Amino acid sequence: MTTLVAERRERPLETERSGGPTLERLISGVWHDVSHRATAACPVCAGAMAPAPGAPPHGACSACGSQLW
Ligand SMILES: [Zn+2]
Repeated sequence: MTTLVAERRERPLETERSGGPTLERLISGVWHDVSHRATAACPVCAGAMAPAPGAPPHGACSACGSQLW
């Protein structure tokens, strides 16, 4: 199981060259979708990450079990 945390972290330098932190954008997009009660594509396996009502985790992937906190 993978746990995803939507916060700023140190990143490898190679992610800086594309004009922005790609992983951060990806996670932020998923975060945005699930926080608006929409199903997002899991950033780990591209499965369906469904929003969780109420308390964290805020999203959980039905395919690989990753959780978005
Ligand atoms: Zn997944």
